[in-house]
Amino acid sequence: MIIKPKTRGFICTTAHPEGCKKIVSDQIEYAKAHKSGFGCKKVLVIGASMGYGLSARVAAAYSCGASTIGVIFDKEGSEKRPASAGWYNTAAFEEFAAADGLYAKTINGDAFSTEIKQKTIDLIKKDLGKVDMVVYSLAAPRRTTADGTVYSSVLKTTDSSYTNKTIDLKDNTITEVTIDPATAEEVEHTVKVMGGEDWMDWIEALTAADAIEENAVTVAFSYLGPEITHPIYMNGSIGQAKKHVFATSKAISEKFSGIRAYTSVNKALVTQSSSAIPVVPLYISILYKVMKDKNIHEGCIEQMTRMFTDKLANDGAVTDENGMIRLDDLEMREDVQKEVLDIWNSVTSETVKNVSDIDGYWKDFFGLFGFEADGVDYEADVNPVYDIASITE
Ligand code: NAD
Repeated sequence: MIIKPKTRGFICTTAHPEGCKKIVSDQIEYAKAHKSGFGCKKVLVIGASMGYGLSARVAAAYSCGASTIGVIFDKEGSEKRPASAGWYNTAAFEEFAAADGLYAKTINGDAFSTEIKQKTIDLIKKDLGKVDMVVYSLAAPRRTTADGTVYSSVLKTTDSSYTNKTIDLKDNTITEVTIDPATAEEVEHTVKVMGGEDWMDWIEALTAADAIEENAVTVAFSYLGPEITHPIYMNGSIGQAKKHVFATSKAISEKFSGIRAYTSVNKALVTQSSSAIPVVPLYISILYKVMKDKNIHEGCIEQMTRMFTDKLANDGAVTDENGMIRLDDLEMREDVQKEVLDIWNSVTSETVKNVSDIDGYWKDFFGLFGFEADGVDYEADVNPVYDIASITE
């Protein structure tokens, strides 16, 4: 099959196996060149197939030499249809890990479910005994709880409507968007999906099954961002969920005395989830331009490797005064934010190509699905069926 990108708004419905493999291979090379002294050796990554979770898995394996179990929710390919990008990423990661003598196994299914938690615990107990680190990196639009209730998350403000610039990803024009406030119920449901409840459920289940070390470390991810994005992010419905994630990190550390739980505040990056948030793609395009000009731009693998090399330590972690790990330190630098704001205030449809890195935005977007990777022949016939060696469904 010759696989081309098929986009609909901020979604690409196809993915390229060779491209995904190349991008995973590049991430592995980066992690191999940045070794960490952090002693994690048996790492569970929940939401391991894309974005920050995939890079956390690569960095745990190749910077720290850890065995990894990944929980993913992806679709395999057939002769007629490519797999999801996360499937190809995971197949490639397992292939490289096996060749390099690193243990890597994967569970495919809904991480929110009791069934997948149990399957993961069974695999940990059989193969690793206990895990010493849990990375929680789910980004999901909905969650079905054990009683069958389906909760959906929304990306809205919480008090009043908010109007600001945005980029229309159909034609890269600058337009205005008005985001309406969420109802109290919508906020509550967003917290149910993207808050820390399921993270706590995982740690409780692992502890009850004696499948986690007493002094394990666990990390979940958050975002704070600058004022431009506060109404839609930090003070919006998703921000309420992130406050819950932070409170959960404190609650986990209190409830399980040896376990150290952290919220890591990461940089804004193009991922499948962030492309869905109004205002944010334009902010990211401008941020990329400013940070690349200053030679301080990072992608997911640079961020995750830095988490292991600079932020996590065997006797604690480098945090801010609130106890948060700050991988957004470069993004939030005063000089960076000042330049971003200046560009934000003046950008128009005519200037967006020059004053922002919209091309870099799109390269990263297509890269999420294995397209536009250097050295891959996209005209070649490829087999869309690419097995994940260890998959448990
Ligand atoms: P992503 O969409 O790239 O990855 C999310 C992962 O979760 C994917 O592997 C997906 O398959 C998996 N997943 C979703 N639902 C699942 C389910 N039910 N069961 C199992 N797996 C499931 O997202 P991302 O941007 O990497 O987000 C990960 C975390 O990082 C989120 O908490 C997000 O808020 C946070 N974060 C993202 C950014 C950013 O700019 N992208 C910045 C800071 C923090």
